[in-house]
Amino acid sequence: MTATLASCKRDFPILGREVHGHPLVYLDSAATAQKPRAVLEAVRRYYEQSNANVHRSVHTLADEATALYEGARQKVAAFIGAERPEEVVFTRGTTEGLNFVARGWAARHLKPGDEVVTSPMEHHSNLIPWQQVCRQTGARLRFIELSPDGTIDLQSAARVIGPKTRLVALSALSNVLGTINPIAAIAEMAHAVGAVMVVDGAQSVPHQVTRVQELGADFLAFSGHKMCGPTGIGVLWGRMERLEEMDPILYGGEMIAYVSRDAATWAAVPAKFEGGTPNIAGAVGLGAAVDYLTAIGMEAIEAHDRRLGELAYRRLASVPGVTVYGPPAPRGGLVAFNLAGIHPHDVAQVFDAHGVAIRAGHHCCQPLMQWLDVGSTARASFYLYNDESDIDRLVEAVEATKRYFGQ
Ligand code: PMP
Repeated sequence: MTATLASCKRDFPILGREVHGHPLVYLDSAATAQKPRAVLEAVRRYYEQSNANVHRSVHTLADEATALYEGARQKVAAFIGAERPEEVVFTRGTTEGLNFVARGWAARHLKPGDEVVTSPMEHHSNLIPWQQVCRQTGARLRFIELSPDGTIDLQSAARVIGPKTRLVALSALSNVLGTINPIAAIAEMAHAVGAVMVVDGAQSVPHQVTRVQELGADFLAFSGHKMCGPTGIGVLWGRMERLEEMDPILYGGEMIAYVSRDAATWAAVPAKFEGGTPNIAGAVGLGAAVDYLTAIGMEAIEAHDRRLGELAYRRLASVPGVTVYGPPAPRGGLVAFNLAGIHPHDVAQVFDAHGVAIRAGHHCCQPLMQWLDVGSTARASFYLYNDESDIDRLVEAVEATKRYFGQ
């Protein structure tokens, strides 16, 4: 394993392949990140050497599997600065974590007239759970408006967050605008009125140093697959008091303390939320991803990704006919853009023919597309294995697309 940004690309076997005769330039890490050999090997080693169910049997393999699974929890806790490993609940990903909070915490605590506050830039997974729980409880969903550059309007936040607010849900980094949101400031407003702060960390935890105490959040949800880990594993971190006052979502094996014919009591956090056989190999892989990112250094990754995001924004903005969205800087390592008169899906298709993988669509952010007044956008997103030469290829692909469509 190499432990520097400059040489890390060779740790990712998939980045050595070609697409349509061109060396692959992978610019879709905001959708899912590629996996370094260390993660692939950790998952393989787990299945080859230690595969067993966790927390159940007393044989050697079961002990090893349990130690690996709980070891991954400790690694994640250290990675985000959690006070205790028990505050880390393994989930399937960000979507599941946010749904757990909506169903386990909000459904239990909201009553008619209460307010839930979010923003128009949220991914559907940080919007629909709140729409649904508001519908069920009679609470009202309110929005912090955005400034014209796609940043959170703090004055709007101060107006919207008030005595009726019980929960504020906001992403730390927008998957479309690249906006880095002022979570600590919003959390302070939320806490001043006694509300709970829920943070969607899907795009921030993989790309920024995360210390949950400084963030001021009560809950933080993120996905392993966007931070070089496997798919199907994610994390819901919560303050212990908040997790304890939350209902479980999945009822069944391993989440109980005692069961009789007619009733059951719950196991302590986090087991209370991990009913059924968990994604053990996924957790092991996530632990290896955390080790890998930590060895490279999250501070260096954060600076690198921001630099690429800001550079790509400037370079794309300077191409005639290209519209870029969100603030120029500071921004995270992704840029959404459109080419005048060319559908983003066509853009992505021409890019693919040149070996450049980007995403096109509404990015699970339809209300944000409505705010931008577009149907969809193209999006290039960067991670530790990208460099400036990939931005050259991105800009070349834009020029090629324009030529292809006769512009
Ligand atoms: N929130 C944001 C900001 C995201 O970018 C994503 C993934 N596109 C999610 C939530 C959902 O993550 P997952 O699909 O891994 O549950």
